[in-house]
Amino acid sequence: EKVFSGFSKTRENLAVVDELLLYWNLADTDRVLDELEEALLVSDFGPRISFKIVDCLREDILAGKLKSGSEIKEALKRSVLQLLTSKGNKSDLQLGFRKPAVIMVVGVNGGGKTTSLGKLACRLKIEGVKVLLAAGDTFRAAASEQLEVWAERTGSEIVVVEGDKVKAASVLSQAVRKGKEQGYDVVLCDTSGRLHTNYSLMEELVACKKAVAKVIPSAPNEILLVLDGTTGLNMLPQAREFNEVVGITGLILTKLDGSARGGCVVSVVDELGIPVKFVGVGEGVDDLQPFDAEAFVNAIFS
Ligand code: GDP
Repeated sequence: EKVFSGFSKTRENLAVVDELLLYWNLADTDRVLDELEEALLVSDFGPRISFKIVDCLREDILAGKLKSGSEIKEALKRSVLQLLTSKGNKSDLQLGFRKPAVIMVVGVNGGGKTTSLGKLACRLKIEGVKVLLAAGDTFRAAASEQLEVWAERTGSEIVVVEGDKVKAASVLSQAVRKGKEQGYDVVLCDTSGRLHTNYSLMEELVACKKAVAKVIPSAPNEILLVLDGTTGLNMLPQAREFNEVVGITGLILTKLDGSARGGCVVSVVDELGIPVKFVGVGEGVDDLQPFDAEAFVNAIFS
């Protein structure tokens, strides 16, 4: 099981749930639920969700609906799954009917945008999709070269515009036009990721979106926000800001093979109401997987 091999810390934190519930009895409920809430908190579920989950469990226990430790554990897993899927569980990309479909990838530097885009190109190529990459991170010097390496690795065409003052919006616009003229299925657009506090980045992303829509009014079809899973709950404010400014359609959570805490996945989905579409589980071409909420829940509560 490669997909969720990385949540060892989360698994360890949540293993306490099993111990607690093994000897659970009604008289013990308050203490057990307090400890359970603590376990959720240290796994980055955040205070609001941790409280909400435990409160629902308490209600069901007191109402006599949950009568054993294992029933409580199943209810716990169900409520996490529900939080992850209640806002829609569409991990499929929504690419519409007009070609090319345009996918923009946004997020702060170092989160894994370029890498995720390369892996996504690889996935789509395997499905027989004709992919064009657009080197829209005109700010970070090495970003275009990095994307060129991915283009080569996946046998994809790429649009790079040389020059110092090239605007990202212009690169994306050229790429989408080329995609349209030359019959591409999908144009995958990289963007810049200077610190999210830098307002001009947000302006640039809005300009990119407009430039793309000028060529194809229904585009971009997807704007995927790439979030570094190891940043835990810290990802929330930046995710909110990106969503407010550009309107995010899906999430890619990266580095879930590392020290990511599983709870933040639930927090960010609940907070933004946006589905996780893909998860990054390593640096190789095959290490971008469609998000499977059930497998995720089973993994962290295994
Ligand atoms: P960008 O600045 O957002 O474009 O980020 P990059 O794509 O350059 O990625 C930053 C670093 O994170 C690189 O060293 C990537 O190899 C690494 N990285 C990206 N995704 C993953 C992942 O899912 N797992 C691991 N372990 N590393 C990743």
